Amino acid sequence: MYQERSWYKEIYSQVLQDMVRRVGLAFDRYLKGDSQGKRSGKPRFKGKGRYHSFTYTQAENDWIVGNRVNLPKLGTIKLIQHRPLPEGFDVKTAIISKKADGWYITFSLLDESVPTINPDIDIEKSVGIDLGLKDFLVTSDGLHVPIPQYYRKAQKRLAKEQRKLAHKKNKASKRRAKQVRKVAKLHAKIARQRKEFHHKIAVLLLRKYEVIAHENLNIKGLARTRLAKSVHDAGWGTFITILANKAERAGCLTIGVNPSGTTQICSDCDAHVPKTLIDRWHSCPYCGLELDRDENSGRNMLKRAEGAPQEAPLGCHPVLKARRVRSDGWTMKREARTQSAG
Ligand SMILES: [Zn+2]
Repeated sequence: MYQERSWYKEIYSQVLQDMVRRVGLAFDRYLKGDSQGKRSGKPRFKGKGRYHSFTYTQAENDWIVGNRVNLPKLGTIKLIQHRPLPEGFDVKTAIISKKADGWYITFSLLDESVPTINPDIDIEKSVGIDLGLKDFLVTSDGLHVPIPQYYRKAQKRLAKEQRKLAHKKNKASKRRAKQVRKVAKLHAKIARQRKEFHHKIAVLLLRKYEVIAHENLNIKGLARTRLAKSVHDAGWGTFITILANKAERAGCLTIGVNPSGTTQICSDCDAHVPKTLIDRWHSCPYCGLELDRDENSGRNMLKRAEGAPQEAPLGCHPVLKARRVRSDGWTMKREARTQSAG
C-alpha cells in the first residue's frame, strides 16, 4: 500500500485504520442496514474534499499540555479549551473535525460508572412537557420556557444572509464564495447555540423533576398531523435525546407518549374540545377548566404517561409499574432496567 500511495505515510496509523472502519460501516449499512434494519444508500467515493473529520482511536490524557495539544504526525497545535477535562476520567478517542469557522477536537472519555435509576424515584415529582413553536416548551404545571431571543435574532440574520447568497448568481465569483462561508459560519453558530440551550433546559428540568413525560416523536404518521412543528425545527428530537441521556445519568425517567389529540382533549374531564392552530387557550365547556393550550397538552402528556384510561391497558405502563413495584418491595432499579431495555 505504501509503495502505491506514498502519502499515506504522512497519516497516523490509527487514523487510517479508522477510515477503513468507516468504509466498512458504510457498506454494512448499505448491505445489512442499521440496528433497526433500515438500509442506507450505496456508498459513494469520498474524495479528500468530502472528508470533514478523522479519528485518533487511542488518544491519551497527556496529549493536552497547557493550551496546546500534541497530535501524532501533526505535532503541537494551539488549542482553545472550552472546559477542562474532568478529573479521574481516561481519554479514549479524539475526533478532529473541520467546521465552517475552524478546526475542532472532541475527546470522548471513558466513564466506568453504570447509570442506575434512583431507587427512591419520587413519582410526585413528575411533569409533562409540550414542545412548541410559540414557547420552546410548556410544562404541565405552567412553566413556559421561551425560545431565546438571541436564537431568533441569529435565525433572522441567517435568512438575510441566505437571501444575499441567492442573489449572487455567478458560481465562480469570489464574493459568492465569501458569502457561502458566511452562511456556513452562521449555521454552525446557530447549531451551537441550540445545543447549549438544549443542555441548559434539560438540566433545569432534571433539577426539578424526576419523571418527565414528553411526546413520542418517533411515531409514524405523526409528521403529517404535526407538520407545522417538524417543518420549523428538527431540534425537538435532539432535545429529547439530550434529555433522555441526562435523565439516565441523573437516575430519572423520561417517557415518550403518543401525542395524538393531546391538544384537543380536556386534561380534566377528557372531553373533546376542538381547537385550531391559532387558539392559544383551552376553555372547556363541560367542566369549566380554563388554562393555556400547551399547559393542557402537557397535562395530557403526563396523564398518558401515568397510564390514564386513554393510554395503554392498566399495569403496562412503566410509571404504573413503578408504583406497584414500590408496594411490592421490588427494587426500582430492576424495573427501570427492563423499561429502558424494552
Ligand atoms: Zn373539561
